[in-house]
Amino acid sequence: MFPDVLFIRAILEMEGNALRLDLETRVKCSFVCDRCGRTYNQEHDCSDTFFYAFEDAQRLPMDSDQALIPRNAVDLDITQEIRDTVIIGLPVQFLCRADCKGLCSNCGVDLNLETCACPKHPVDPRWAALLKLKDQD
Ligand SMILES: [Zn+2]
Ligand SMILES: [Zn+2]
Repeated sequence: MFPDVLFIRAILEMEGNALRLDLETRVKCSFVCDRCGRTYNQEHDCSDTFFYAFEDAQRLPMDSDQALIPRNAVDLDITQEIRDTVIIGLPVQFLCRADCKGLCSNCGVDLNLETCACPKHPVDPRWAALLKLKDQD
């Protein structure tokens, strides 16, 4: 899914009694279009912020989503945070382009490239299944 280099900018700074991590990622993704099934590449930018509290610090109840790190920690593994940032930022729907026409549910041609002679193109495949049932009656 990620054929190319992942660029990461991580800024870590103290904020009060906690550490604040600002993550920005840029990755070139290889997606499969939900409509036409074509593979396409797209640059994908994500950003997220994470907070870490020191184990011995006084914590407020509202800070309970903070990760805990030892007071004497010398390094911080942010692999999971990077993964979360990239995955959560992924689009809900993968489209090679916003107006992708998809495949004809009847004959399967790529409607971006050609038109077919099929009478109509039901948008929802569930309708297509119903229509097929109707034909059998
Ligand atoms: Zn498409
Ligand atoms: Zn067709």
